[in-house]
Amino acid sequence: MHVDLHSHSTASDGVLTPVELLSRAAEAGVELFSITDHDTLAAYDELAERAASAPRRPPRVVRGVELSTSWRGRVVHVLGYGFSDEAPSLRRGIALQRARREERARAIGERLRRRGIEGAFEGAMAIAGQASIGRPHFARFLVDAGIARSADDAFHRWLGDHQMGGVAAEWASLGDAVEWIAADGGAAVLAHPAKYQLTHTRLRELLGDFAACGGAALEVLCGRQPPSTIEELARAGTRFGLAGSVGSDFHGPEAWAPAPGVARVPALGLPMLWERW
Ligand code: AMP
Ligand code: MN
Ligand code: MN
Ligand code: MN
Repeated sequence: MHVDLHSHSTASDGVLTPVELLSRAAEAGVELFSITDHDTLAAYDELAERAASAPRRPPRVVRGVELSTSWRGRVVHVLGYGFSDEAPSLRRGIALQRARREERARAIGERLRRRGIEGAFEGAMAIAGQASIGRPHFARFLVDAGIARSADDAFHRWLGDHQMGGVAAEWASLGDAVEWIAADGGAAVLAHPAKYQLTHTRLRELLGDFAACGGAALEVLCGRQPPSTIEELARAGTRFGLAGSVGSDFHGPEAWAPAPGVARVPALGLPMLWERW
C-alpha cells in the first residue's frame, strides 16, 4: 500500500492549501494520507468547508496533527492520528501550543530587532496569516527582506536551534501531548526519531519513555532515509512494542522535503500503524 502519514499545508508551514495537497497526493498515487500540520487542525476545517473542490479520486484521509513537545530539554515532535472529530482534549492542548508559538514568535522578533532587523515579528505574522506561526515564516520574511538567500540560509544564520533566533519555547511535555491525543481516541506516533541526532542510549531512553506514556508507534521512515536507518528504527520499535509508521514530511514542491507518497513501505517485520484501522 502507498502510504504517507506526514505532510504540511498552508495551515502551518506548508506551501499548498489542504485541497491542493490532497490533489498532489492523489496524483502521486497515495492511497492513505494524512495532513499533519504543526499544532493545528485547521486544514481539516478547511477540507470540510471545501469538500466540493476535493480531487476526484482522493486518497483515504486520516486526520492528523504534529505537536511540538519537550523531552529532557530537547524538542521532540509527536504525531497524532485518528482522534475524534470534536477532539476536545487535543483542541485544548493546541490552544496552549498556539499561545506558546505566538509568545516565541515575539521573542524571536525581539532578538532579531536587537540585531538590527526591524519588523520581523509583524512581517512573519503577516506571512503566516491564519496559519500556525513558526520559524519558517520568519525564514520567508528574512528571504523577502533580502537578509537571507534562502530558507536554509535563514535557518543556518539566524533561526537554527543554536542561532540567536532559535528561541527555545515552552512546549508541552512529551507525556502531556501523548495524553491529549489518547484522550480523544487517537494514536500517538514519535515523528522522525533519526532527526534528533541522539546517541543510541538516548534514543532508547526516548523510545522507552514514549512507550511508557502510551505512545503507539514510531516513524521508521520520514522523508529520505538510508535503508540501514529504517531497519535500525524498525528493530528499536519492535523492542519497545511500538508499531511502525511512514511519511514524507512534505512541505511543498520547492521545499527540502521529498514529494508526497515517496514512502512505499518495505516489509519490516513490525506491525504498521494503519493495519489496525
Ligand atoms: P518551528 O516548529 O517553528 O520550530 O519550525 C520548525 C520547522 O522549520 C520544521 O518543521 C521545518 O519545516 C522547518 N525547518 C527546520 N529546519 C529547516 C531548514 N534548515 N531549512 C528550512 N526549513 C527548516
Ligand atoms: Mn515544518
Ligand atoms: Mn517535525
Ligand atoms: Mn512535519
